[in-house]
Amino acid sequence: MAQYPDTDLLIRGSWRSGGGGAIDVVNPATGEVIGKLAKADRKDLDDALEAAAAGFAVWRKTSAFDRANVMRKAADILKSRVEEIAPVLTMEQGKPLQQARNEVNSAVEAICWFAEEATRTYGRIIPARGPDIVQNVIKEPVGPVAAFTPWNFPINQAVLKISAAVAAGCSMIVKGPEETPASCAALIKAFVDAGLPEGVLNLVYGVPSEISSYLIAHPVIRKVSFTGSTAVGKLLAEMAGKHMKRITMELGGHAPVLVFDDADLQSAVKTMARVKYYNSGQICIAPTRFMVQDKAFDNFVADFENEVSKVKVGDGLEPDVTMGPLANERRLSAMAELTEDAVKHGGKLLVGGERIGNRGNFFAPTILLETDRSAKIQIDEPFGPVALISRFKTYDEAVTEANRLPYGLAAYAFTRSAKTMNGLSEDVETGMLSINQHGLALPETPFGGVKDSGYGSEGGAEGIEAYLQPKFVTKKLI
Ligand code: NAD
Repeated sequence: MAQYPDTDLLIRGSWRSGGGGAIDVVNPATGEVIGKLAKADRKDLDDALEAAAAGFAVWRKTSAFDRANVMRKAADILKSRVEEIAPVLTMEQGKPLQQARNEVNSAVEAICWFAEEATRTYGRIIPARGPDIVQNVIKEPVGPVAAFTPWNFPINQAVLKISAAVAAGCSMIVKGPEETPASCAALIKAFVDAGLPEGVLNLVYGVPSEISSYLIAHPVIRKVSFTGSTAVGKLLAEMAGKHMKRITMELGGHAPVLVFDDADLQSAVKTMARVKYYNSGQICIAPTRFMVQDKAFDNFVADFENEVSKVKVGDGLEPDVTMGPLANERRLSAMAELTEDAVKHGGKLLVGGERIGNRGNFFAPTILLETDRSAKIQIDEPFGPVALISRFKTYDEAVTEANRLPYGLAAYAFTRSAKTMNGLSEDVETGMLSINQHGLALPETPFGGVKDSGYGSEGGAEGIEAYLQPKFVTKKLI
């Protein structure tokens, strides 16, 4: 079995223990302490800021072609380490080993895609109003970035920020997830081992609020990117606004799933059950509020329940396990409280609703039917393995429900009607809409939300634009 490594900070190309002591890392499947994490103090942060400034000076002058070469090499190194990193990710986060492998492999894809995109950061020439006048728009990297990444996908949430920033020519200080630090560090190590100049990527851990308030306010930092809860996102956006820093905010969601009478029900059930319980439901785009049209309702519920009965919960390192523990005890108590409150609000508990065993953070895959909209789980993001299923009669009713909450990250729909598909593309208030499939979170497509789910995009051409600043240069040739 793989050894779980202790995690150090990376500052100016060197791995070091932090001045702030160490933090325990716990395996959520066993509750056991499996490793230590270095905690940054103020001196570490100052060193990281100085390193990011120096790294930026070098990297912004490195050609896009050479940046892409380093990135491709990092992707190759990461690919060669899948079997080494995946068990580490499972041990610290809980997800089944195959899902951990998928996460590393999709990080490889993201790095490759952004490496190519680095070479396409074109500017443009604007026709001038007079002779001998040239008007150019050039794209420049925005500068050193502070990135805050969460524990649900410790590699994938970090890789989109890192790849886009590095491709654009920015440097970055990553504040990684304290609960799941080693896999995020392994991702960054691939870049270091690929020859990324020192200071371009720096990795710190510690007390999140202390690090964010220090870094965001610091004049070296020119952009902030955060993935996490809406509450924290609003706090950081306020700080960034005060210091006029550019921001990308990828926050919470409460995704609606609209299943119409004319849908391919088998496909809807299979696709959504797989995505719902993937990563134990700890996904910002997880399908959560299922709305099923009247005639399809009974069949959908029966088939969905049957599909959920096949989910095998256990330690992600064990073979055949398809759902691991929740990543931390906070989610476990949140699931218990939300389910209890839902039942008080008329929710019919079809399956699950309770902790499994008394060791590790295991919670049963759960289905709640017809929970009143005033229940807490109908308002707050559950971020766990709970599906809420209700019924609707008309298109308008479905759209009103889809748009009911201040969230607007992902939405799903299942229908054979082109008219309904077109209507939904216009009417659903969401950053991403996936119809008759789960087609979200690819490196080449934009990923981001509207309303309280944040702003800015992490994937696609939009993803790299977030790290580029247009500069207009006009000259008269004399
Ligand atoms: P939380 O709100 O305390 O933290 C969420 C994330 O933000 C964590 O990674 C945390 O380290 C970081 N964070 C917290 N305070 C911070 C600060 N002041 N400065 C910088 N970073 C800070 O909640 P939690 O218990 O860790 O997670 C639960 C909730 O977070 C979930 O309900 C979900 O809404 C949200 N979440 C969303 C995502 C996502 O992919 N969008 C990922 C993880 C968590």
